[in-house]
Amino acid sequence: MTERLYYDDPLLKEFDAVVTCIKAHGDGFLIALDRSAFYPTSGGQPHDNGVIRTDSDEYPVTDVTVDDDGEVWHRIPETVLPGTRVHGVIDWERRRDHMEQHGGEHMIAGAIWALMQGVTIGLHCGAEDATIDVTLPDGRTRMTEAEIAAVEALVNREIREDAKVRCWFPGKEELASIPLRKPPAVKEHVRVVAYGDYEYCACGGTHPPSAGWIGCVKILSVLPERGKARVRFVCGERAFKAFAVSYAQCRLVSDALSCPSDRLDLGLAAVEQKLAAQSERIRTLSQALCQLAEREAERDVKTFGKTQLMVMRFADVEHSVLSQAASEAMANHPDWVILCLSAQGQFVLASQNAPVSMAALAKTAGLRGGGKPDFAQGKVPEGIGDAAERIGALLETAK
Ligand SMILES: [Zn+2]
Repeated sequence: MTERLYYDDPLLKEFDAVVTCIKAHGDGFLIALDRSAFYPTSGGQPHDNGVIRTDSDEYPVTDVTVDDDGEVWHRIPETVLPGTRVHGVIDWERRRDHMEQHGGEHMIAGAIWALMQGVTIGLHCGAEDATIDVTLPDGRTRMTEAEIAAVEALVNREIREDAKVRCWFPGKEELASIPLRKPPAVKEHVRVVAYGDYEYCACGGTHPPSAGWIGCVKILSVLPERGKARVRFVCGERAFKAFAVSYAQCRLVSDALSCPSDRLDLGLAAVEQKLAAQSERIRTLSQALCQLAEREAERDVKTFGKTQLMVMRFADVEHSVLSQAASEAMANHPDWVILCLSAQGQFVLASQNAPVSMAALAKTAGLRGGGKPDFAQGKVPEGIGDAAERIGALLETAK
């Protein structure tokens, strides 16, 4: 079994060891050492990276795992003979980042337990953020903004007060007296971590010597996930970076809206008000334009068979002008068929009570588009002649 140096000294960055075993694995090799400071993937915390040096070579460590016997295996690309003395160096930036996320997770889980009796499982530490899943006693899968703020406030206060972190292997009697947040996953050699006096948990991970190391914690979201509340968060340097990005974005928007960066809501409300006023102005102007276009449109009303067809020919107008004119004409003459045409070849065909479907009429006339029984619209294909004549001819023969 590998002696795990990170248990006693989670800040150890380099160590000496002896290779005890090696085995081929894929296109590389797995080596076991008599002692190691490399953390193997477990408990939601990703493995350490780093290098292992011999007297003559240096090998990158790209994966670290632990087997059921407690042997830690380090993946390297070349073979190294058992008995070789080596020097291991941890990628400290990566480890420190993981310790910040892992430590922050303990703090959040402890706060959710203390404040809401929520039970946390399933830490996932990703490259950008970390998540935990929480079962709340009342079955809710969300938290209120006030609850999230209370959790953040408690966690960050403990961090600022630099709550001490202790890790140890208690005896059975002592273990029974420790108020663990949840039962241990293992029965023997239970390692307990305590963050101050409010987070006690069985854990084999790497933890900083005090909560101050975590820096700060920010919860990004709490969303339902498979019947639980999934809490997404960032800690330490990730939290500082997230704040820097968010604040830069806030500054951009606050400059654009000419409002303080902590009252973007006021700037947004002012923009919404302005937009609403402009929309109203556009609506009024559109109506005026439409009326003007209608006044200038050529009108022609003829009877075909039993139906009266009103044709309105417009100049270069927007499609909405045709729609509005057709709707108004249809309201005034519900039995007529109204055909509005624009100079660019757009059409609207409308009738409230005509015995034929406008969509079917337009299609039979060879017009391109679609619609409903009382309203059709689209384009008059080039080369088919006058759309009004085609519609008139169809109405003439309609039963
Ligand atoms: Zn832990």
